[in-house]
Amino acid sequence: MSLTKQRVSYFYHPEVGHFYYGPSHPMKPHRLKLAHHLILSYGLYKQMECYRPHPATPGEITKFHSEDYVNFLSRINPDNLKQFTQQMQRFNAGDMTDCPVFDGLMEFAQLYTGASLDGAIKLNNNETDIAINWTGGLHHAKKSEASGFCYINDIVLAILELLKVHARVLYIDIDIHHGDGVEEAFYCTDRVMTFSLHKYGDFFPGTGHIKDVGAKEGTGYSVNAPLTSGMTDKAYEDIFKPVMDKIMEIFRPGAIVLQCGADSLTGDRLGCFNLSLKGHAECVKYVKSFHVPTLVLGGGGYTIRNVARCWAYETSVLLDQPIPNKIPFNDYFEYYAPDYELHLTPEPRENMNTEASLEAVRVELLQQLQELQGAPSVQMQEVPPEFDLKKEEAYAEGMNDGGAEDDIRDGGNGKTSKGYGDGTRRAHSAELYDGEKDQ
Ligand SMILES: [Zn+2]
Repeated sequence: MSLTKQRVSYFYHPEVGHFYYGPSHPMKPHRLKLAHHLILSYGLYKQMECYRPHPATPGEITKFHSEDYVNFLSRINPDNLKQFTQQMQRFNAGDMTDCPVFDGLMEFAQLYTGASLDGAIKLNNNETDIAINWTGGLHHAKKSEASGFCYINDIVLAILELLKVHARVLYIDIDIHHGDGVEEAFYCTDRVMTFSLHKYGDFFPGTGHIKDVGAKEGTGYSVNAPLTSGMTDKAYEDIFKPVMDKIMEIFRPGAIVLQCGADSLTGDRLGCFNLSLKGHAECVKYVKSFHVPTLVLGGGGYTIRNVARCWAYETSVLLDQPIPNKIPFNDYFEYYAPDYELHLTPEPRENMNTEASLEAVRVELLQQLQELQGAPSVQMQEVPPEFDLKKEEAYAEGMNDGGAEDDIRDGGNGKTSKGYGDGTRRAHSAELYDGEKDQ
């Protein structure tokens, strides 16, 4: 562990904010431009190495995603939809889903994915200590399926890159939604631990029960903190920190990937937690304090002025560079009206997570982690063996086909990692098209 100042690298492609999911769709790539300009206007770029990432190639993307799915994403556009009716259904894209086909869809995915890969490579080469890609973190995408506004899972691809050098990688997800795509990809391995804190119960994507702990070699390595509406800074911290301490003690990762979805903030258009910027960023600060090479990613966030506030503030936290509460003048200054201030005040509403329920989650997760101690694993290996995701996939596919091992993820909650077991997909539906304004 080195306690010298951590080097920070920042990856941003100037085109990534120009894509458009469609009218009234809550996912606005424009928020990425707002965040970038706020970071610039605070002068934070001066203290980090800034890079323009390469667009990920189809060859890089098929390290996780299936070829036919990547092919489909490369070929489809709003003008040729009719030729792809069947595939759109199969791959969960198009107007009937929450993953529309929009102009430049594949380019968009290539840009945010390339930035995550470049960050992972920079960390692998020991050329930086922290790599930031606010444009990535699309945690719902599956091997052959778009889901929850996500098409390509840049997180899984970045973790696969990190596994070339590191024996163990820790994934942390503070988005309000469960990090299902990442959990599913690594559900059966002990080389990746996933820790997701999320709203659970009648909420997209429906997975992330506390009893979903992983399978086979990965049993115990999926860590889920199911929470409900109104989470406060204090309550969140009281789960996050003790569980993180135990994870770091037991799992000892060589690298960390931190997904900082901003939809867990107060006032989010789709979310229902009540975190301030400081509460959200406390997780970032805490992860940073372990001095492990870390890839920091964006994710959800649907009140776009707050997304920009959050990620600009977290950039300052990662740089140990305090910034004033007064928003500096920038191209999108008017978005921050009426107060033109950085920080958010939580809403005066009840935290529906009771002391007892929070204590129960904390105790159960600490117990789950304690049981890993002493279990045989790759922990003592100096050089990681080749990671064979294909082997894990064959297993996962067997489950999804309704094979004999279908119930392996059923920890008594009657749900598989797919969520329902009844084959239905849960969309953001009710949360979409609600007629709210963009910001
Ligand atoms: Zn989310």
